[in-house]
Amino acid sequence: MACSLVFKNGRLIDGISDQPRNQVSFVVEGERIRSVEPEPFPVPAGADLIDLNGRTVLPGLIDTHVHTTLIDKECLPLFLAAGVTTARDVGGNLEKVLQLRAALNSGRQLGPRLFVLGPLLDGSDESFSGTLGPFAELLESVPTVDAVPSKISRLLKAGVDGIKIYFTMPPDTAKAIIGYVGKQVPITAHLGYTHSLDVIEAGIDGLEHVWISPYNEFCAAGMQFGAGASMVDPNFWVRLTKGWEEADLKGKGARIWFGEMVEKQVNMGTTLDLLWLAKCGSEVAQRDSDRRFVTPMALARQREMAAHMGERPDWDIHPGMFDPSRCVKALEKHQDVTRILHEAGGLVVGGTDCGAISYPPPGFALLREIELLAESMGAMAAIKAVTSVAARYLRQQENIGSIAAGRYADFLIVDGDPLRDTRELRRLKTVYRGGVAYQPEAILAQVPNSAMEQTE
Ligand SMILES: [Zn+2]
Repeated sequence: MACSLVFKNGRLIDGISDQPRNQVSFVVEGERIRSVEPEPFPVPAGADLIDLNGRTVLPGLIDTHVHTTLIDKECLPLFLAAGVTTARDVGGNLEKVLQLRAALNSGRQLGPRLFVLGPLLDGSDESFSGTLGPFAELLESVPTVDAVPSKISRLLKAGVDGIKIYFTMPPDTAKAIIGYVGKQVPITAHLGYTHSLDVIEAGIDGLEHVWISPYNEFCAAGMQFGAGASMVDPNFWVRLTKGWEEADLKGKGARIWFGEMVEKQVNMGTTLDLLWLAKCGSEVAQRDSDRRFVTPMALARQREMAAHMGERPDWDIHPGMFDPSRCVKALEKHQDVTRILHEAGGLVVGGTDCGAISYPPPGFALLREIELLAESMGAMAAIKAVTSVAARYLRQQENIGSIAAGRYADFLIVDGDPLRDTRELRRLKTVYRGGVAYQPEAILAQVPNSAMEQTE
């Protein structure tokens, strides 16, 4: 029998219950949790004992929206260092993401467990029209409804964990994909040409980004986007920001959207962190300690962008296409949408878009996301959004997202109280993935760190 490890006297946030439980023990055997027990729990003979001294234990965090092929391999351990033990790649070159999944899930590469959706599936137009170099390789086109069976069966045969519909996909092709997949794997979408109600009706499992996928349902009729819209057009962002500022969250379109999302239990992936800079302001962000972990790949991309935009003191973290300082009101609206959906009984899952955006960096981006989610719907709901709710979305609730018998031993030990203040998740003492312990400090000492170059 595998040697067992008993964790004693913990304060448990199990990912599912609404309240934490004090004085809890749990037993880990190999890579799984064998049981969770109330105290007093007699320690079995031969078991190793770890006294948690009342410290908080919670499930490893899940980031449901990352682009791992745009992150340097040596930076992937950043996820673990921030407590993210599982990530879902929502758009990458098929070969590359499959290789990365194999390396991460076998433990050959240090980092989170990985689930992959394969490429971003565009319609016949190309979302990035060849302008944003590394992004172009994430795309594949499904040009017509007739092309759906061959394209999708190839992805399913390759073993993807889900399907991602992208910006230029028109409604008829999107619906054909959802019908063809027939619930074999979860499907999600970053919409542009298609309205979210069309794919919700058709049975989609999730939507990505509050800022765009449901936008048309909230903005005034004259502010909508459809076929021909382009995310590489700076005017797109100006209109989007204005549309959100003026959005009526109690209007007819909004009410229908909330109702459908709740009734069909569609997962809303948030990516609020995209606008974290709007929240804190550029000056605060420049002093932010996470800035040192912006990845080399992201820095190279940012440097190229800075050449066009002119050097600014926050060149390494500024998103370039739009000015976050103009998005404060829009972010508030996104947080309101999140809160209303949650309160109505809808499903909110945390995601970050890290890799595709430079800042906040891998792992730490999800900590920012949790802070913004907690402002919208409270700390416990925010934690569930990145643990048990996310696990169900991935159809992995038997394996991850909670601390319960049979799950992988993926959990975090923190010194602080994240229910009082989710920023206390940063007082992370030890991360376990599959029963193996990692010390965040030791990982951070090993990954590239750009602090020297930037702060003086
Ligand atoms: Zn993305």
